[in-house]
Amino acid sequence: MTSLRASLPELAELEALLPELPGARTRTLALARHAGQALPIHAIALGPADVTSPALLFVAGVHGLERVGTQVLLSYLRSLRAALGWDELLDQLLRRMRLLFVPLVNPAGMALGLRSNPRGVDLMRNSPVRADERSRWYELHRGQRLSPYLPWYQGTPESGMEVESRALAELVQTELFASRCAIVVDVHSGFLAGDRIWFPYARSRAPLAHTPELFALAELLAHTHEGHVYTFEPQAINYTTHGDLWDYLYDFARERGAGGLLLPLTLELSSYPWYRKNPRQLVHRLGLFHPMKPHRLARVQRRHKTLFDFLARAVFSHERWLPQSAAQRHELERRARERWFGGVGQGAR
Ligand SMILES: [Zn+2]
Repeated sequence: MTSLRASLPELAELEALLPELPGARTRTLALARHAGQALPIHAIALGPADVTSPALLFVAGVHGLERVGTQVLLSYLRSLRAALGWDELLDQLLRRMRLLFVPLVNPAGMALGLRSNPRGVDLMRNSPVRADERSRWYELHRGQRLSPYLPWYQGTPESGMEVESRALAELVQTELFASRCAIVVDVHSGFLAGDRIWFPYARSRAPLAHTPELFALAELLAHTHEGHVYTFEPQAINYTTHGDLWDYLYDFARERGAGGLLLPLTLELSSYPWYRKNPRQLVHRLGLFHPMKPHRLARVQRRHKTLFDFLARAVFSHERWLPQSAAQRHELERRARERWFGGVGQGAR
């Protein structure tokens, strides 16, 4: 039996970084097991221990095939490591807010070259949430309960959530539910034209309760970084899915009435430009989700740092741009419905 770690340089890189981040609190959320081996799911926290303080959580490696997300976060952590040594602005930021990281949620899946975890479960289809619309037979990608040998398998309701999804859910619950303002960036990659920032719901085309806040954030990004590359939109505009973990955690936070603000975003990196320029990449299964030429990977890593820094500043300064009055929220909601949900009064389309 070959060692899973041998196929996972990302884990070694991450573990080398952990002791080198000044002031970081690190812990192992859980162990992902396969064939008698156990791989840790690491979490990193920078900033105050107070869980009501604002927070930005970075997540990657939910889908094991999408290695680029983990590598983008490792690159961001390396630049933070350097900045922590000299950047006084970063010190100020970390006095009032937290930067949290779970850079590799599904280490065993990544080591095995799977989208799913080793039990064949797609961790982004594994929560108890059901989509509003029923799936047709050919819509396996929306989540299926037929077989773990087919992609997008949800697992069974009886076995509950997988160890990896549970580890992430528990971290979000303990660290973010009480936060005054928490934003999540969960990095994925796949066959899309252009980089996307998606927000819930995945299960429904109906707007979520914090649509005004998300619209305000989208406008803030557009005005601060004119001509930025991202399409900012609800995931359900593209397709709806069963079992989305962020839908589940968003709704759960509201049911629990923890009093915080939780805005989960998914950053979907488009792999299209990577194989348009390198068609041979299509032959490799990994190539659909990952840029294989080193210079291209470096470009992807650089490309998103601006967004990450912007989000950290947005969380830090949330009182300056989040809507404060009912009238402001109403106006943002109206504009959001026009842009994303098919106009005023139509609501879900
Ligand atoms: Zn993914």
